[in-house]
Amino acid sequence: MEPQKVNRPVNVRRPEVMAQVAEDLARFQSSLVEWIREQGNELELPGVRLFLAESFGFCDGVKRAIEIAYAACRLFKGRRIWLIGEIIHNPDVNASLDALGLLHLPWKMDDPAYDALTAEDVVIMPAFGVPVSLRQRLEARGVTLVDSTCGNVIKVWQRVRTYAAAGVTSIIHGKARHEESMATASQSQGKDGKGNYLVIFNETEACLVADYMNGRGLDKKAFLERFAGCVSLGFDPDVHLAEIGLANQTTMLKSETAAIQQLLRAAVVERDGSDARFHMFDTICGATQDRQNALFALLEKPLDAMFIIGGYNSSNTTHLAHIAARRVPTFFVSTAECLLGPQRIRCYDLEKKKEVVRPLPAWFKHPERELQIGVTAGASCPANVIEAVICRIAELCGCAEL
Ligand code: SF4
Repeated sequence: MEPQKVNRPVNVRRPEVMAQVAEDLARFQSSLVEWIREQGNELELPGVRLFLAESFGFCDGVKRAIEIAYAACRLFKGRRIWLIGEIIHNPDVNASLDALGLLHLPWKMDDPAYDALTAEDVVIMPAFGVPVSLRQRLEARGVTLVDSTCGNVIKVWQRVRTYAAAGVTSIIHGKARHEESMATASQSQGKDGKGNYLVIFNETEACLVADYMNGRGLDKKAFLERFAGCVSLGFDPDVHLAEIGLANQTTMLKSETAAIQQLLRAAVVERDGSDARFHMFDTICGATQDRQNALFALLEKPLDAMFIIGGYNSSNTTHLAHIAARRVPTFFVSTAECLLGPQRIRCYDLEKKKEVVRPLPAWFKHPERELQIGVTAGASCPANVIEAVICRIAELCGCAEL
């Protein structure tokens, strides 16, 4: 099929549907969570004191993306409405959208499903955005585009496009296979597609890059093998690490991003004698930082356990779980159903990277003193799920129904 026209995303947040959408989204709210917030984020029950972090749950970007998906379903009722991948990474929210009849397109650039799209189809781009080539492919199909990309993600794109225009290679601190990092990597190639990028996941990988820049560690072949799938086409570390600019996936761990900045800046100084060819811009979003800072503050309390609530594939939630697990027994759960009973819990194992069933400590059911339990949730976790988990914790601790 010939391209019909280059189309712009439509604004679906129209007054005629937003009142209905507000009603739709009420299902994600919780009067209990609001009440706890009003009480100073503490809930005192017989034998248990529960602390909620100062900042937790839905961020503005996630709320907006869900609103847009619901509004699109209302506005284009009767048409085929597709979503690329997941709107955000939360199973409860995604199940609610599936129930509206939303269809799914795979997060695979070359999937033939995209060739079957026509001008009659509506396609929603998720909060993480989509790579440039995929967006162009959708535009060429003439579909009605609905864009829920978060403004904070777009700010990162602007930054890496600026690097590309100046001939600076983008070093993206992120997960190479995460949707947001893939979209950002595509933007870092600039308008002419000639810009370069390298995605690094952690300090270990940053050390490999720093060493390479100063003639240590991996040789070129080994370097390219080590970072296969994480670099732009034709990436040459001898050429493309000459001038670098740092950006990060919006949901990374702030302390790790700061350490990577220091490492790479020091590597450039060691090589060049100055940091003139090192650029950086902190692109971790405010919501991610707020939730991490609030968790650090919560962990100052003498907690017996910490519950982290959210989707297991949610990057910002996983980082919260890592922060908590270093300090206190931590249970990373996606729903209240994970709390199987007084002795067992289904939770995400950060080492094994899969859901496991673990025993709950004996003191959970038979505490010898008042228990202090911390609770927080990632930016994509709705309040109704948080409420359900709190109620289940209270129930398992032997408290009467809330
Ligand atoms: S976590 Fe940050 S970048 Fe992601 S949707 Fe929320 S506000 Fe946007």
